[in-house]
Order: sequence, then structure tokens, then C-alpha cells
Amino acid sequence: MNQLAAEDFGLFMSALKFGAHKHRRQKRKDTGKTPYFNHPIDVAETLWRVGSVRDIAILTAALLHDVIEDTETTPEDVEHIFGGDILSLVQEVSDDKSLEKQTRKEQQVRHAPDLSAGAKLIKIADKICNIKDVTHSPPPDWSINRRMEYLDWAERVVKGLKGCNEKLEEEFYRLLSEGRKKLTS
Ligand code: NDP
Ligand code: ZN
Repeated sequence: MNQLAAEDFGLFMSALKFGAHKHRRQKRKDTGKTPYFNHPIDVAETLWRVGSVRDIAILTAALLHDVIEDTETTPEDVEHIFGGDILSLVQEVSDDKSLEKQTRKEQQVRHAPDLSAGAKLIKIADKICNIKDVTHSPPPDWSINRRMEYLDWAERVVKGLKGCNEKLEEEFYRLLSEGRKKLTS
């Protein structure tokens, strides 16, 4: 049996603890108000299970992918605890919150092809999890039209990630067509 690298598991566990703490008061936007940190766990687990990603920096950064964007955590905090490589990945997938929402969404589309290989994997796993949520556990105030628009936008982002990982791309497009079917039925 493969021996788990103690250092890698330690890093991953400290990101679990750190992320759970930083997001502890936040909820997702679904009716059930799911704890926010379920989402970064979903992203890391999708990378592991669907994409067979085994790079510990990528898996750890997936757990932390929303801490800078959505909590008071600073880049310095992340660098100090998790190092520069993980900080770079987290920053690559974080929106610039000083910009208007619509501009941020356009930037994600434009920047997708220029992301590093690791950031592309986190980005596609994030979109997989979000289109699944938009399909099955959406914010209750979103119209069908707004949910469809979200799927269209996610598709535009993922187009720019082409070639990043066959299995993750397959999963994304499978869920995309399942989502469109459900929303138009
Ligand atoms: P938001 O950006 O407000 O919300 C989507 C994001 O919320 C996701 O990317 C995800 O981000 C997070 N999230 C948390 N919980 C859920 C959940 N249960 N399901 C899905 N996502 C969840 O929405 P939009 O993408 O629609 O973007 C906002 C834009 O839409 C603005 O430009 C606004 O002006 C416009 N708008 C459009 C309307 C319409 O009817 N078309 C109506 C009102 C506004 P993460 O992965 O980071 O957690
Ligand atoms: Zn996310």
C-alpha cells in the first residue's frame, strides 16, 4: 500500500482547519444555508476523485481558494503558514474585489487561458462545484434565467481552460448539459 507522506497530510490538515475557521460564520446561498466551507472541501475532493490530482500544493490551495476573496485573510497570512507556491495559486484564482462584479466576471473569462496549470485545475473544479450548486441547490431568489446565465458564463470561463484535465473537462460538460436539461424541463 502507498505510504501517505506525513508532511503533505499535515499541510492539507492545517488548511482544513484554517479554512474551516476563516469561513466559520459564512453560509452558501442555497435554501439550506449550507456551511460555506463545504464548498472548498467539495472543490478539493473533486480534484482528487474526478481529476486524479495528487499534487499537494494544488489540493491544499483548493481548500484555501476563497479565503482571500471572501474572508479577512491576507496574502501575508497565507504565505506565512502555507508558503509562496500555495499563495500564488490562491491569488491566481481570486477575483480582485475592488472591481465591479460584471468586470470581475469578464476578467475571469479573459484570464482563464493565462492561468498556470495548477490554477486552471482549481478553476475548473470550482466551476464544476458551482454549476452543480446552481442546478441542484441554487440561491432561492435566482430566476431560471439567471441560473441559465450563470451556466453560460461558466462555460465561457471553462472554454479558456481547454486541455487542463480530460476527466475534469468531461465532468464539467456532463454537468453543464444536465443543468441545462433540468432548467429547461
Ligand atoms: P453571484 O456572483 O452573486 O453569485 C454566484 C457565486 O456565489 C458563485 O460563483 C459562488 O462563488 C457563490 N455561491 C454561493 N452559494 C452558491 C450557490 N448555492 N449556488 C451557486 N453559487 C453560489 O451571482 P452571478 O454569477 O449571477 O453574478 C452577479 C452578476 O449578476 C452581477 O453582475 C449582477 O449585476 C448580475 N445580476 C443578474 C441578475 C439576473 O437575473 N441575470 C439579477 C441580479 C444581478 P464561489 O465559488 O466564490 O463561492
Ligand atoms: Zn469557489
